[in-house]
Amino acid sequence: MFAKSLIALLSTLALVTAVPNPVPPPAQQERRGVLPTSWHHPRDHPVAALFRRGPEDLPAVGSDAWRAKFANLGQNPEANIPQAWLDALHRAQAANLIPNIPLATSPDGGSTAVYPPGVNGGQEPICSSQFQCRHTDDIWDAPSGMIGLSVDDGPVSFPDASPRLYDFLRTHNQKVTHFMIGANILNAPTMFMRAFEELGDDIGVHTWTHRHMSLLSNEQLVAELGWTLQIIYDSTEGRVARYWRPPYGDCDNRVRAIAKHVFGLTTVIWNQDSRDWTMAANPPGTTLARIQSDFANWLSGPRTPGLVILEHEITADDVTAFINMYPLIAAASSSGQPWTAVSVAQLFDGHVEGATLNGTAVGWYQNAKDNEGDVDQEMDVAGGSPTTSSSAGHSNSTTSTRTGTATATATSTSSHSTSDAHKTFTLGGVAVGALVLITSALAL
Ligand SMILES: [Zn+2]
Repeated sequence: MFAKSLIALLSTLALVTAVPNPVPPPAQQERRGVLPTSWHHPRDHPVAALFRRGPEDLPAVGSDAWRAKFANLGQNPEANIPQAWLDALHRAQAANLIPNIPLATSPDGGSTAVYPPGVNGGQEPICSSQFQCRHTDDIWDAPSGMIGLSVDDGPVSFPDASPRLYDFLRTHNQKVTHFMIGANILNAPTMFMRAFEELGDDIGVHTWTHRHMSLLSNEQLVAELGWTLQIIYDSTEGRVARYWRPPYGDCDNRVRAIAKHVFGLTTVIWNQDSRDWTMAANPPGTTLARIQSDFANWLSGPRTPGLVILEHEITADDVTAFINMYPLIAAASSSGQPWTAVSVAQLFDGHVEGATLNGTAVGWYQNAKDNEGDVDQEMDVAGGSPTTSSSAGHSNSTTSTRTGTATATATSTSSHSTSDAHKTFTLGGVAVGALVLITSALAL
């Protein structure tokens, strides 16, 4: 049973700040024809260079040499931060790109996070996605009529979880985005390669240890994002991930700015939550039947905006929920509600009409169109121009029930599902958040 193999269960929480509006990508972006049209990020400093460590001849994924670079990180990636990453952080700070806002704290030791009294997480300068503050840099919605499929927290080797999902995806030739935990990649390299190579799925960042980002220092954030980017880079022939999803949807303006200006990452939240992660709670927050019903309702609802749905791949029930849901997409389409189900990265790569990110078709990675195309070794994306650091573009969801609250408590439930999930940190007194499975027993 899954629970028996769970060695580490990490949970935490977080909140947000204000970041500069994105600069429209210059037209010159097309380099060597690698990308469909142009780059999304400004090219002010070389993020790819942050991950080069010696020869580009990278060790085989899963080999001792591959493991060696990450073996000592454990649950404390900040113990070892390459100077180049810190330098990039310091440059961003010097350019006033990283807001100096309060960190959230966790009075109960990790399952909840709160901002200091008088600080409203739903407003500037915090703009926490957990408070439904939608920064314009973030992705919450899909283009009309499209479903962006993603699964979080993998990869794991537990046979009924990632492996069963991957078999299903291969059978149905369906791509999804995997927001992966760095430590889980280290523990399950074979499953990583199945996702990347066999399925051809795009890989996004879900941090190294799956903590609540709003609680962490700037340096800790650099370590959480940097090491996950590094292991993805090392395992994909040098691809730099474009997208990241904050654990628990916990992102504020400071977190968002570090992701963007140090590493060139775009933050992806969601607009519907399957709440699959609550099935393991006692009592369960949802059931397989309820998830099925929720999906049916979403698919019969408005096609605008399109759907970005939070799902996971770390338990048997997660995967069962996905497998049960999947036929509903075709059923809805054949009954007059056409949906195009793609990975999150495919929502914006231009392969379907209207699939763009702010009007620009972008590759799955910052330096590559997809898993098979060339990797641009000379790219230099990320790092916003200092002239763009002024205001934060955001809006609060009209469905938010949190605005005006300074505390991200767990049991608060939004009538709207957009982030209802991972901002809930306790249920029935039990910390539930997304599970981080770090188990040597399951490691390949
Ligand atoms: Zn997660």
